[in-house]
Amino acid sequence: MDNKPLLGISSCLLGNTVRFDSGHKHNDYITETLGQYFDFQAFCPEVIAGLGIPRPAIHLVKTTKGIRALQVKNHAIDVTAQLQMAIQQILAHPNLAHLSGFILKKDSPSCGMERVKIFAEQATSQPSERTGIGLFAAALQQQYPNLPLEEEGRLCDPILRENFIGRVFVYQRWQQLMQAPISANALIEFHSDHKYLIMAHDQNSLRELGQLVAQAGTTDLVSLQAEYIQKLMQALSKKASRGQQGNVLAHLMGYLTDYLEREDRAELVETIQQYQQGYLPLIVPITLLKHHFRKHPHPYVRRQYYLKPHPSELMLLNSI
Ligand code: SF4
Repeated sequence: MDNKPLLGISSCLLGNTVRFDSGHKHNDYITETLGQYFDFQAFCPEVIAGLGIPRPAIHLVKTTKGIRALQVKNHAIDVTAQLQMAIQQILAHPNLAHLSGFILKKDSPSCGMERVKIFAEQATSQPSERTGIGLFAAALQQQYPNLPLEEEGRLCDPILRENFIGRVFVYQRWQQLMQAPISANALIEFHSDHKYLIMAHDQNSLRELGQLVAQAGTTDLVSLQAEYIQKLMQALSKKASRGQQGNVLAHLMGYLTDYLEREDRAELVETIQQYQQGYLPLIVPITLLKHHFRKHPHPYVRRQYYLKPHPSELMLLNSI
């Protein structure tokens, strides 16, 4: 595949032996399947911080000075400052701005994206809360709020997996668009090509984004594009329900009204209904729609990324 998106990744997930115990957390799906369609840029914040391999394990602790990264066996040793310096070093890496997404190691006090254990200052074994975010993940989110982030554990969920990878490809197309000074027309076309994808995730956002794009010829494009991508990525991170997907499929079917025989139309309606009821995966009505659009091409529908959100070989629509 040409022009593979570049994903940042917690280094241990690629099988690199960088963990505190000299081990790794190799993830087959990431290296064997995603590896065919994405390039990876690996980072291990704790190794870059010079904490060594092996190293004493650390965890997040709620202290009077805020959340700190302390050694599990000795809370007197605080490595927060070392880690923060390493994080700044990673954020300054020339490839960071080229990443189209980031896969993070769950539960890590450095890389965990959510629900990381926070311990009380006096207790070293029992977490008092599971509400933390790893120090690196927090800094990454702050510096790149629109960058799609996901944890490897959540990639086992077909809906979350499809959502993340879909967002990565949208973000990559946005990065490509941003390589040249943007014009009002280019922004309108970008929005237009993603219309049904956005509709599947959030109808209200589609309306808001449409209103934003409508101002493209009359307002400052630089601030408008920043607001657009922020709202777009927020909209796409919402789950696309079967009801919303069914609505989009029905809209697309509308473009075929003048061409479909009665039996073909009935078959398509039934397929969409069966998908909405959970008897069929999304790939079935989409394949049927594409079949009819091959025979009756429509220039607007042909451009819709909803019908080709990611490489079909990843089979992400087969299990949602
Ligand atoms: S979770 Fe992050 S800090 Fe820990 S070993 Fe993996 S890459 Fe390094």
